Amino acid sequence: MSTSHWAIAVHGGAGTIERRHLRPEQEAAYRAALGRVAEAGGVVLRAGGSALDAIEAAIHLLEDDPLFNAGRGAVFTARGANELDASIMDGATLAAGAVAGVTRTRHPISLARAVMERSSHVLLVGAGADAFSKANGVEQADPSYFFTERRWRSLENFAKAHDLPVPPRPAGDHRPDPVHALAHDEGKYGTVGVVALDISGNVAAGTSTGGTTGKQWGRVGDSPVIGAGTYASNAACAVSATGTGEYFIRLGVAHEIAALVEHKGLSLQAAADIVIQDKLTALGGDGGIIAVAPDGQVAWSYNTSGMYRASLAANRPLVVGIYKDEP
Ligand code: ASP
Repeated sequence: MSTSHWAIAVHGGAGTIERRHLRPEQEAAYRAALGRVAEAGGVVLRAGGSALDAIEAAIHLLEDDPLFNAGRGAVFTARGANELDASIMDGATLAAGAVAGVTRTRHPISLARAVMERSSHVLLVGAGADAFSKANGVEQADPSYFFTERRWRSLENFAKAHDLPVPPRPAGDHRPDPVHALAHDEGKYGTVGVVALDISGNVAAGTSTGGTTGKQWGRVGDSPVIGAGTYASNAACAVSATGTGEYFIRLGVAHEIAALVEHKGLSLQAAADIVIQDKLTALGGDGGIIAVAPDGQVAWSYNTSGMYRASLAANRPLVVGIYKDEP
């Protein structure tokens, strides 16, 4: 039953991320954060913990880190709010949970897990999801907790560029945060995701995001859509995505990769490359994925110039990468 190995991969978003865009201290901050997150998941897996527990622990760190567009550090909508999306899936049972447009939960990944484990539903949205969160004792946070100066400035720039009114500044800590100087914003999607294989041979995937800056009308991307931004099946693999969500939804990216592995017997890397390098690129979408299979294969594929990523596995050292010319 035991496959005696485990593996984890992490992403913190993909996009136009080139060496000349990042100062050494910015690059170091991202690399350190990604490494810490992979190690935190690795601690759970090494001790025999489940893939779901490793994912939840690792994504908590990413949701708390304002470098990334998830939890604290999430981007603002056009009306000046943080509306958070997340999803999680258990490859052993095909159970899944997701939330979209939530505003009061510190760790949306834990709310997605609560939907999976404590409701008979898969996807809850908006005020109903906020109410479910409170009723189920998931850790609450005032909306002002999610405010970061850096994301607010991004929204102001977005509003000006798109001829939209700049909404009133919401409550929050308006001091320039130290991260402001370290974060890299231009042309990137900062969604976070983790995929893991535990020593019982089960895979799982989770994704968490603030979506896209200046989103309007209750727009929801791929991150909370099972099959698009997140998918896991022990019959194939676990996948988490980041990028232009509308394209990932149209291609059912995460499920498509799993289907190629399961039905065509492709390697994880080959399946990921067909969907990202060929299909996503042909359709005009940008972004990437991380994936892990029950036999320990780990893959990532992205069609942007960079993706924040890390992986760690039993008997394999930590790998952290940002740019295209890295492993
Ligand atoms: N995929 C996310 C969305 O469309 C954005 C991202 O990856 O940063 O909401």
